[in-house]
Amino acid sequence: MDPRVPAITDRLGGTTGLRWFRAPGRVNLIGDHTDYHDGLVLPLAVDRDCVVAARTRDDGRVTVRSVEVAGEVDVPADGSDEPAAVEPAWGRLVAGVVRALAGAGRPPVGVEVALSSTVPVGSGLSSSAALEVSIALALADAAGFALPATELARACQRGEHLGTSVPSGVMDQLVALLGRASHALLIDCRTLAAEPIALPDALVVLVMHSGLPRTLAGSAYADRRAEGERVAARLGVAALRDALLDAVGEEPRARHVVTENQRVLQFADALRADDAAGLGSLLLASHASLRDDYEVSTPELDLAVELLVEHGAIGARVTGAGFGGCVVALVARAQVRAVASETVARYRAETGLDARAFEVRAVDGAGPLTAPVDA
Ligand code: ADP
Ligand code: MG
Repeated sequence: MDPRVPAITDRLGGTTGLRWFRAPGRVNLIGDHTDYHDGLVLPLAVDRDCVVAARTRDDGRVTVRSVEVAGEVDVPADGSDEPAAVEPAWGRLVAGVVRALAGAGRPPVGVEVALSSTVPVGSGLSSSAALEVSIALALADAAGFALPATELARACQRGEHLGTSVPSGVMDQLVALLGRASHALLIDCRTLAAEPIALPDALVVLVMHSGLPRTLAGSAYADRRAEGERVAARLGVAALRDALLDAVGEEPRARHVVTENQRVLQFADALRADDAAGLGSLLLASHASLRDDYEVSTPELDLAVELLVEHGAIGARVTGAGFGGCVVALVARAQVRAVASETVARYRAETGLDARAFEVRAVDGAGPLTAPVDA
């Protein structure tokens, strides 16, 4: 049995009438800061997830407790509470999703929820989308309300905007829903088409947390997005996705988006061709572009990338929003333990930061869990 189950049922006063759901975190292999420019991304859903249990309640309230974070969220199921003002603060994501689903037509059925997540918070593995999507599944189920995955992802994204005011893209929610075991997902963030691409057996996806909390990510993120949108408007295109390299060659921010979209397609080809050398150089080119053109890296993240490669990773790059958080690397399976331990030791010695590295596996996207209590 999942060790989180007793802690969850405890908070719900027993197992009667519970329905269970899970949604995974994700790591993005390549394609960062492209999703909100209608571009391409290549993430995988990882074996860290948010598990929720829910039962309906008849007073029209949505209440949520978290095993990891204190406080009880309590909002009306019709979404009429202002999400950005909800306390405790983590409940803003919940309230945002409640409002977004109400707006999409969900009947205001009350529900009592408890959750527990193994996705590290604020690291770039999207604990937020894991929470939003798992709650959204529970809310939809309780009200007998169904939405296609792409619309559910959009509703969760809208919920995050309502709760946090950070204008994040749709990648996290979509891969949390549509991830596939042993595969990465090539997502077109304009059409929301998602194509699973098999990951080579011989390679391991290694995530290294820099030990640096993400700072300034919200405001810098919004600035980057606005900057790109201004360039797109000037060029007369709908989004930077449509800009040609020639038109943005002198503009580092836009250049990152255009070249990163190309790298995502090349990376997908290299995966299909089992071309490890190609994968490695594309990861490094992506990191250089995020560092120099998009300027979302930090000296510590740069060092982590350098040390990973020095100790044998075939390539590495900052992943997620940047400004701290995690680096992702591809490593030959036989070498992964040595690469992880040697890199972390060197990095700790040089920075004094509490870094850690862990392997992630690609898993299936979110869905119901069948009777975990009896498992
Ligand atoms: P990331 O998505 O990269 O982990 P974010 O800042 O986008 O970082 O989301 C983290 C937020 O998600 C937390 O501040 C909290 O509001 C919410 N969250 C994630 N996991 C949990 C949890 N287990 N319990 C309560 N809130 C959580
Ligand atoms: Mg997030």
